[in-house]
Amino acid sequence: MKPLEINENVPLADLTTFKVGGPARYLAQVENEDNLLKAISFAKSANLPTLALGSGSNVLISDAGFNGLAIMNRIQGIEFSATNDSALVSAGAGVDWDYLVNFCTEKNWQGIECLSGIPGTVGAAPVQNIGAYGQSAEEVITGVRAIDSTNSASAEFNKEHCGFGYRKSIFNTEASGHYVITRVSFSLAVNRKPYAEHRDIINFLKNTQNPSLHAVRDAVLSIRKAKGLVISNDSDSFMSAGSFFKNPLVENSLFMKIKEDIEKNGGCENWAWPQSDGSMKISAACIIQTAGFGKGYIYGKAGISPKHSLCIINRGGATASELAAFAELIQKEVWARFTIRLEPEVRFIGFR
Ligand SMILES: Cc1cc2nc3c(=O)[nH]c(=O)nc-3n(C[C@H](O)[C@H](O)[C@H](O)COP(=O)(O)OP(=O)(O)OC[C@H]3O[C@@H](n4cnc5c(N)ncnc54)[C@H](O)[C@@H]3O)c2cc1C
Repeated sequence: MKPLEINENVPLADLTTFKVGGPARYLAQVENEDNLLKAISFAKSANLPTLALGSGSNVLISDAGFNGLAIMNRIQGIEFSATNDSALVSAGAGVDWDYLVNFCTEKNWQGIECLSGIPGTVGAAPVQNIGAYGQSAEEVITGVRAIDSTNSASAEFNKEHCGFGYRKSIFNTEASGHYVITRVSFSLAVNRKPYAEHRDIINFLKNTQNPSLHAVRDAVLSIRKAKGLVISNDSDSFMSAGSFFKNPLVENSLFMKIKEDIEKNGGCENWAWPQSDGSMKISAACIIQTAGFGKGYIYGKAGISPKHSLCIINRGGATASELAAFAELIQKEVWARFTIRLEPEVRFIGFR
């Protein structure tokens, strides 16, 4: 087994998609649970906090960095068993998420095709319950295995214990920072037709009869590329963390006021979705744009993606403070205009 290496004062910017942030006091890369336990015990003996890091695609690390032990989770391996109806898949937390989606699509296992192209690792998927184009990770996750960073005990969570909601789980709320996830299990359907109910996908595939899983995966990748939401060498991508804010939920009376304002100002397409409790989920992109921060908006070396108004980007050479100040400005302007408090989807690390 490869011995655990712990390095001191390691720059983190290049380990994130924003490409900003200072160093970690210590950094360990772990490929198995034994080394993860050793890393946690090192942090404990030095009385330092730990930070689980996947691909850094949903974090904003402060310019001062992280004064603790960052643990880059690289635990690999995909195990599976399948019957005629379902496939049970268990993947190491360090497996690349889109590699897993492709792997399952190749086998004709249905359930995560709309989550194609989301950057990051399998271990982070339950943390914010990743979602896109009408699917979310919670629909297929059956269990999460983790190590408790406070006492090194292993823990198994079934789906009900994960507390899933919209961009939410116990791992980014009450137990935030507590557990390092090592494996995630999924249940997928075998030979079921793909999920293609989102209007962008319907529109993209309007000339395709009975699209295959592959066709839906390819459609999602193309739609995401057009929005600058795929990180690859063959498409325009930006230094961002994807959607910076969550789509807010608002009461009906407030929704009516916002609707009037938005319609007076040119409107947005497909921007409000009724919820089962009577509230409305509204597009953060639409309200940000209406509040004056349209696509391509420039704020020093930060800005808004020219292809998606929900993506704050580092235009080159931005600092974490500049990105955080820009996010705060957007929150202030949105609050002043709509009395909506935008909640970041991105995790802030090392900020006071
Ligand atoms: C271009 C772009 C597009 C995106 N599109 C989407 C999208 O469509 N839908 C969506 O939901 N998200 C999207 N995201 C956000 C991001 O891809 C997801 O949140 C992803 O799951 C983050 O994975 P990661 O490995 O990079 O996590 P990181 O950014 O490294 O970490 C994110 C959080 O999870 C925690 N974490 C990471 N790994 C573990 C672990 N093993 N155990 C415990 N905690 C852990 C970290 O401590 C941190 O709090 C997008 C991001 C980008 C840059």
